[in-house]
Amino acid sequence: ADLYGPSRKNSAGVELGHAESLDALLAEIAAATAKPFPDASPIIDGKAAGGTPRPVLSPIDGKAIGTVAEADAALAGRAMLAAKAGFDEWNRTPARTRAAALRKAADLMEAKRGLLLALLQAEAGKTLDDAISEVREAVDFCRYYAAEAEAKFAAPIILPGPTGEENRLILRGRGPFLCIAPWNFPLAIFAGQVAAALVAGNSVVAKPAPQTPLIAAVTVRLLHEAGVPVSALHLTPGDGALGAALVAHPAVAGVAFTGSTATARAINRALAAKDGPIVPLIAETGGLNAMIVDATALSEQVADDVVMSAFRSAGQRCSALRLLVVQEDVADKMVEMITGAGSELKLGDPRRIETHIGPVIDAAAKQRLDSHVEAMRKLGRIVWAGETPALGGTFVAPHVVALNSIAELDREHFGPILHVVRWKSGQLDKVIEAIEATGYGLTLGVHSRIETTVEEVVSRLSTGNIYVNRNIIGAVVGVQPFGGHGLSGTGPKAGGPHYLMRFASEQTVTVNT
Ligand code: GLU
Repeated sequence: ADLYGPSRKNSAGVELGHAESLDALLAEIAAATAKPFPDASPIIDGKAAGGTPRPVLSPIDGKAIGTVAEADAALAGRAMLAAKAGFDEWNRTPARTRAAALRKAADLMEAKRGLLLALLQAEAGKTLDDAISEVREAVDFCRYYAAEAEAKFAAPIILPGPTGEENRLILRGRGPFLCIAPWNFPLAIFAGQVAAALVAGNSVVAKPAPQTPLIAAVTVRLLHEAGVPVSALHLTPGDGALGAALVAHPAVAGVAFTGSTATARAINRALAAKDGPIVPLIAETGGLNAMIVDATALSEQVADDVVMSAFRSAGQRCSALRLLVVQEDVADKMVEMITGAGSELKLGDPRRIETHIGPVIDAAAKQRLDSHVEAMRKLGRIVWAGETPALGGTFVAPHVVALNSIAELDREHFGPILHVVRWKSGQLDKVIEAIEATGYGLTLGVHSRIETTVEEVVSRLSTGNIYVNRNIIGAVVGVQPFGGHGLSGTGPKAGGPHYLMRFASEQTVTVNT
């Protein structure tokens, strides 16, 4: 298979300007919304396994859209033991069969896109655009990892050796893998982690974010329907305390985590403190993502790319732009163009097709963002504030905030707030040093028409995903493998050729013939 060449295709998009495709899509979403959403609960060996029920609230209007029964430490233990029991058979299932289940899951996701889109909108507050991209990304992850597994896991690598000796290198699963997903990509990242772990031969216990359990339960059922044995994939909805109980369990053979840097650190510590085997952690965390703009950049393009990177998805992407670092000579003009373009964005109910920015995920997120804005307002730093609609949900208007230095931004603000710092010509060096000194390394943009400037930035910064003269969000599976290092995570990159390896254990077999 030609994994990296033109023969590998990602899923097709939806042409929203095309009335027929849009109507068909909206009809599928309406049909899914007409019925109550399926409830979520712990799923152990394919069965609903008790748990403590609570309502799931929509960020759009705060209303209940379903029920989740959450697992406690006892259920976490049961799920881990079930995954341990299910591991061996799944690990011995040929890689091609495991890959076929993922491909079938991708087809089912496309067939059931109405329900998935409706849930992404109601449960995670996603705009139609973002929801469509997310279903595509989940589908792409399944197909990409299926192809990767067939290429790397289906047959051993035969190695040279002296006469009378045969050597082969085999990739196998590690055991029960714990997958902890974030709410900001409750389908794509959830399914991506689980698909990678499964296709490499591991059994899985998946813990979705507390805000988005409904779509996780639908996804687990869908993977079972696609042929993943119920003994190989289990679900435990719950909060951070449940996550800690799962991490502490002796059966855990590996952890894939996407979320905050602080939680990744806590998981790393907990794993290190355990007796028993050394357990690998694959962590994808936050960023203080910057875009460096010099005086030669095309201003219209910069404005579009900044607005897209900082405000779309309500800024709730790890990849989102937090810090615009713009050359002083053009800063006023650039900021004016950015706020002009920002003023065109419509905030509101993400289920309405004209909406560009939906709500942030919950009241706690809104409160954190509002208090940051308030603190900046007191310091007289607010350059621009978008309008907040008079709606019931957790909406945060886009803002532009002036900073005096890069170092002043000391943490990630996970919402539509763009910080702007100016730099003087001749000081690119200091800019690069200050960005590297944040310790984060997820995404970076550079807008310049001077080749040597671009080269200097690219060669001196170790950021995981660098985008030149374009926006910095929306990495595509198999095209822009995604993930950072330092405070931004451990790698390997999701949607890239090395991802599955970290889910696998290697075995060398030497036979004296
Ligand atoms: N892969 C996404 C992007 O490139 C971001 C993923 C995340 O927010 O964790 O925009």
